[in-house]
Amino acid sequence: MATYEYLCEGCKHQFSLVQRISEHGKKKVTCPKCKGTKVKQQISLFQVKTSRKS
Ligand SMILES: [Zn+2]
Repeated sequence: MATYEYLCEGCKHQFSLVQRISEHGKKKVTCPKCKGTKVKQQISLFQVKTSRKS
């Protein structure tokens, strides 16, 4: 299981969804707020975070 972050382009609602990796990309994601299907996947902050030394 992994958590995916999504942003609805219809109402700008951000939400996260727990999906199985095998499930991801196969299921249609709908916005829980407006039920819209114009949903964009966000890049997870967990993966983007890098340890910077300055
Ligand atoms: Zn929405």
